[in-house]
Amino acid sequence: MNTRRDFLHKLTASAIALPVLSAFNSQEKKYAPAKKYDGPVLRVAICGLGSYGTRVADAMRDCKQAKLVGAVSGTPSKLTDWQSKYGIPAKNCYNYETLDEIKNNPDIDAVYVTTPNSLHKPLILRVAKTGKHAISEKPMAVNAKDAQDMVDACKKAGVKLLVGYRMHFEPKTLEVIRMRKAGEMGKILFFQGLTGFRIGDPTQWRLNKQLAGGGSMMDIGIYAINGARYMVGEDPIWVTAQETKTDHEKFKEGVDETITFQFGFPSGAQASCLSSYNMNNLDKFFLNGEKGWAEMVPSTGYGPIKGRTNKGELDFPHVTHQTVQMEEFSAILLQGKQPPVPVDGEEGVKDMKIIDAIYAAVKSGKKEKLNL
Ligand code: NAD
Repeated sequence: MNTRRDFLHKLTASAIALPVLSAFNSQEKKYAPAKKYDGPVLRVAICGLGSYGTRVADAMRDCKQAKLVGAVSGTPSKLTDWQSKYGIPAKNCYNYETLDEIKNNPDIDAVYVTTPNSLHKPLILRVAKTGKHAISEKPMAVNAKDAQDMVDACKKAGVKLLVGYRMHFEPKTLEVIRMRKAGEMGKILFFQGLTGFRIGDPTQWRLNKQLAGGGSMMDIGIYAINGARYMVGEDPIWVTAQETKTDHEKFKEGVDETITFQFGFPSGAQASCLSSYNMNNLDKFFLNGEKGWAEMVPSTGYGPIKGRTNKGELDFPHVTHQTVQMEEFSAILLQGKQPPVPVDGEEGVKDMKIIDAIYAAVKSGKKEKLNL
């Protein structure tokens, strides 16, 4: 029987090579079950056992190349819950005081930090010192300097640093990238990225400048920034941006509610994007070239991602993003695989430089130059 697990294995075992991936259409069942995986397995500890950490842990149940083996939390009851829920041994559980002792644990290869944004940097610096590979959730930091410090620290420690850019492994997204790279859309002229949702509880950390580092841009706008780069296939050279704030109580100083922003690319292509914490139904990418186009709605949610191009519907099976991401992270960290779209710390630094420039452009009202 060709199960989803087999499909995931096939997807990842085939290194998500684009030519191979393009063969994965809705006739998934015609492919033979994948062979049993007997390669190296990435043993991961998750640090910050909140909602996204739990999503990753659940998704890792379907992984063959990665395994959840450890946990880091400041809440003892969460650690005991995770021990029974995910079969994690007590000896692989740590709190924020004992985290550094992971260096003496030969059964953990990597630590995946899924805490609020501003804690990524201090925790990744500590992870680097343990000699384990480091994985940071997005945004990797709250500004480009901190992000660069993380890259430097991991380099110095001789460990790899990856950022949880799960869309970089999503099949429909990869097919659009393949089409664009193959020239099937001709010269790229324009990208539109709309990202946002109406945020609830005003007391949550996402609305706390100290923990979030900003507002919607840090959390959801980063998908349009990162998406503009992988869809257009270039890094922007300038940015302009405008902020709208309707609720100064909920969105305090330094916490952006809604920002529209525009990029210019070296080829002359342009992008127009929106990031908001005050509107629902915002999850859309549109890429326009001289010979073709792609539209994805939804474009960055947990899926199923839906899309069509000038050639018709994008017909690829839905995958659990976090499962494929962790399989691919294993191949990158343990086997030196090069992903089709980078997910390393340098990639994260670029997005942070752009966020810094967007905030600067909001303040200056001017076109800010970018040198990525
Ligand atoms: P969350 O609030 O559900 O979880 C955060 C966890 O960090 C909690 O377990 C909390 O106890 C812990 N924590 C440790 N120190 C803390 C402190 N000083 N203050 C507050 N909490 C502290 O948040 P989340 O939604 O899981 O987001 C965590 C990270 O994951 C964020 O960086 C977010 O951007 C990212 N994320 C990524 C995706 C994605 O699709 N890639 C989706 C959601 C969240």
